[in-house]
Amino acid sequence: MWGNSVIKVGNGRKTMFWNDIWVGQTPLRQQFPDIYNLNQQKLATISEITNAQGWNLSFRRLLNDWEVERMIQFYNTLEQAKSLNFEEDKLLWSLDKGGKFRVKAAYKMLNISTETKEWWPWKMIWKGKIPHKVACFTWLVASQAVLTQDNLMKRGRQLCSRCFFCEAVTETVNHLFLQCKVTGKLWQWFINLRGIGWAMPRHTSEVLACWNRDGNQSEHKERWKIVPSCIWWTIWKERNQRCFENKNIPFQSIKMNCLATFYFWCIHSVPKDIGEINLFLDSLKEYRR
Ligand SMILES: [Zn+2]
Repeated sequence: MWGNSVIKVGNGRKTMFWNDIWVGQTPLRQQFPDIYNLNQQKLATISEITNAQGWNLSFRRLLNDWEVERMIQFYNTLEQAKSLNFEEDKLLWSLDKGGKFRVKAAYKMLNISTETKEWWPWKMIWKGKIPHKVACFTWLVASQAVLTQDNLMKRGRQLCSRCFFCEAVTETVNHLFLQCKVTGKLWQWFINLRGIGWAMPRHTSEVLACWNRDGNQSEHKERWKIVPSCIWWTIWKERNQRCFENKNIPFQSIKMNCLATFYFWCIHSVPKDIGEINLFLDSLKEYRR
């Protein structure tokens, strides 16, 4: 009987997140034993694992690079789920057609509050037209899980940390990808091109949410969506050159790398020369509005 049952999740208060069958054919614990093992809320109900931002899962350590793909699969599975609602959770007979359901990510659920809450920018990350490995990397940056020096130190590595660009402060995710003066110049360049007012948020995931929201009215919104990933990818590659190969290039070259990458991801071909990139960038200016 239990094997042919599924739970129709309403408010999520009676359904065990890991142990009940509510998304897919088996409990999440069986579908993702590796993620289950890392999680710290093994006996939680679904409602205990959601908040206004979406899934509120806590893990006992940062992810290793090789675990990222798996985590993405896991979150994609949760994405198939339907929003929570105010009904009680119900047990359904899974062989009945009417018993089938898809439970969508719950981050819309508690949006009753009038306060502005940041949502987790899944769509911004996974629906952008960027290479999959870059989407994974963007996810790591937004999750503060990329292996910058502050994160390495949290794992017990002894480092004398400094930012590889400005050499002024400790390298943290938010410094490297948002606040550093070198990265800031790239951000400013795109902000000027778009002609928007912009106050840099403090956290990488907030940047994605704000950037996407501000670009939503734009006729080039799919292209604007790519910009944060493009800046982060460029900065990370340059940072690694400096860190591991001791090679520095000047800011103008970093900027050109960034623009060429942006061009390539938008147009899917390699620009012949700088003139071609400039023409393309000019076409993104939105004088018409
Ligand atoms: Zn810096």
